[in-house]
Amino acid sequence: MTKYFEVIRRDGPARLGKLSLEQTIQTPAIISKNEYLCSGSVFSFGSAEDAREPAPTSNENRKLVILPYVPTALHVEPLLELPGQELDEPKDGATGIVVHPFYGGKPASADVYVMGSAGSLKNPRDLIGAVVGVRNRIPADTALYVPALATPANLAFLVYLGIDLIDTTRVVADAYFGRYHTRDGVRPFADFDELPCKCQFCQRLDEEGEEATTLAGHNVLKLEEELAVSRDMVRKETIREYVERQVRVTPELTAALRLLDQEHAYIEQRTPVHRRSTLYANTAESLDRVEVTRFAERVLCRYTAPKSDVLLLLPCSARKPYSTSRSHRFFALATGSSRKYLHELILTSPLALVPRELEEVYPAASYDVPVTGHWDLEERAWLLRCLDGYLEKNRYARIVAHLDGELEQTVKDHGIDAIYTGGGTNDAALARLSDAVREACQSSTRLGDMRLGRYRAVTDYYFGSGAGDLLLAGKVKVKGREIQNEKGKTLVMITPNGTIALSPEGARRLEPLGNYIVTIGDFLPKGSLLAPGVIEADEQIRPGDEVIIRGEKAFGVGRAKMSGWEMVESKRGVAVELKQIEKI
Ligand SMILES: [Zn+2]
Repeated sequence: MTKYFEVIRRDGPARLGKLSLEQTIQTPAIISKNEYLCSGSVFSFGSAEDAREPAPTSNENRKLVILPYVPTALHVEPLLELPGQELDEPKDGATGIVVHPFYGGKPASADVYVMGSAGSLKNPRDLIGAVVGVRNRIPADTALYVPALATPANLAFLVYLGIDLIDTTRVVADAYFGRYHTRDGVRPFADFDELPCKCQFCQRLDEEGEEATTLAGHNVLKLEEELAVSRDMVRKETIREYVERQVRVTPELTAALRLLDQEHAYIEQRTPVHRRSTLYANTAESLDRVEVTRFAERVLCRYTAPKSDVLLLLPCSARKPYSTSRSHRFFALATGSSRKYLHELILTSPLALVPRELEEVYPAASYDVPVTGHWDLEERAWLLRCLDGYLEKNRYARIVAHLDGELEQTVKDHGIDAIYTGGGTNDAALARLSDAVREACQSSTRLGDMRLGRYRAVTDYYFGSGAGDLLLAGKVKVKGREIQNEKGKTLVMITPNGTIALSPEGARRLEPLGNYIVTIGDFLPKGSLLAPGVIEADEQIRPGDEVIIRGEKAFGVGRAKMSGWEMVESKRGVAVELKQIEKI
C-alpha cells in the first residue's frame, strides 16, 4: 500500500523520498495540518465501532489521513487494541497509522507510520530503541513520522536515524515558554545579551523584545534551515560526517549516536558499499563506522594474500591512493626489483590494514584522518586485533616493518617478529629499507602477476572469497583497466573510483558462487529494474553493489540502488540500475 511514498536516495539509514499528497512533497519534510487530517484519539469517538470506521471526512485535497489511535504513554502498554483498521478498498490518498514505540507487532499496512508519544523520546536509549524497533516492524518503503520531537539541534540526527517526517510542534510550543532554538541547542530568550541570528524575526525581537509568535517564527525558520542542510548532506552522501559534528551539541545526542552505532545490523543493512564523498574520521565514533568495520572484516575474511615469503609493512600517506603519494613513490624506488618478491600491507587508522591490491577500493582511496603521529589506545587495540587476525590467516617467512614513531613502537611492543627499519623517507631511511628488503627477499619465491593479483583481490572484496579465482580462471589477459578472456571479451573492469564493473561474460563466471544475485520474473527489464520485479535478492547486497541479474528471459549486470532485503520488501522504487542485460 505504498502507492504514495517512494524512497529516491539513501545515505546509510537516511533517505530522501517523495510523499504524494495534493502536491508531492520531498522528504525528509516538515508536515503540518495543511498536509494531514488526524482522526484523533479513539476516546473522542462514540464507540470502538465508530473509531474503526470513522465517518468519511471530506478529503478533496488528498491529505494524509491519520486513523484514530489509542493515546498511550511511552513505557505503558496500550490499554486497548483497535480492531483491524485496514481499509480494504483502494483509497484516494495516503493513510497514516499511529504505532507505539515499544509495543505491538507488525502494524496494518499504511503509507506513513506515526510514532506515538514521540515527543517523550528524550532519553537517548528510548529514542534509539523506539526508532530501530519501529523501523524493523514496518516496511522499508513507508514513511516514518515523529511528531513533536524535532529541534534544530537534533534534526540532522533524526534524519540520519531514518525519520522521514517531522513537525514544528516542539519549537513553536517552546516559543510560548520563551525558549530560543538554534542548531546549537535551546536557551531562554531572556539569557541573550546579543542574538546570534539576524533573521527578520530576530530583528523584530531585538527592537520589540520577547514576543511568542515572533520567537516561534525564528524557531521554525531555524528548523527549516537545518532540514535543508540535512537534505543537502544526504544528497552529498556526507550525512554521517555532519551528524558526527552536530551531535556534539549535547551529551544526550552524542550518546544517542554511540547507542545507534551499537545497533550494528540496523546501520550495516543500510550502508552503501561506496560513497562519492571522502570519509572523514575525525571523531571517536568514526572508528565504529560500518565502512571501517566492513572494510576490515572483508580484508580478514574475503581477502586472501598472494603466496609470498616476505611481508612489507608500510605507513599510510595523506594522498590516496597511497601509490600516488610522494612517500610511497620513494618506497617503491627503494624496494626496486625486490618488489616482485614481497607483498605490501599498509597500516593506517581507522581502516587498520590495507593490502596494496585494495588501495583503490572505497574507503581506502577516500578517507581522511587528523594526522598527529599519536595512536590512542582504541586505535592501537583495533590495529593490533586486525593485524593478529591477518597474520593468522596469511603466513609469511619474514616481515620487514618500515614504520616509525608510535606506530613502529606499537607493532614492536605487540611482539611482531620483524626487521624494523625505523621508517622514514630521507636517503638514509630509504637505504635501510632497501637493504632490509633485499636481504629478506633472498631465496624468496617470486610473486605471480600482481596486476592479476589486484583484480583477484578486488573481486574477492566485492563478491566474496573465491570469486577472484572463478573470474580469472583459464587464460586471461590484462588490458588497461580491464581483464579479457582469451577471445578478447571483457570480463571485468575496475573503475577509476575503485568499484568493480562486470560484463555479462564475467557475471556468468561468478554466477555459480551464488553471491550478489538478483532473481527476477519472466520479463526482460530495460533501464531500471523496479523493486516489484524482484523475486529474490541476496541479503548481502547493499546500495552501490555490482549485482548479477538472473531471470527466465534475461541475464546481466547492474548497480544496486537499495539493499537486497529492501528489494524484496519494497513495492516501489528502483532496485537496480541496469548496465548490460542480455535476452535469453
Ligand atoms: Zn532568527
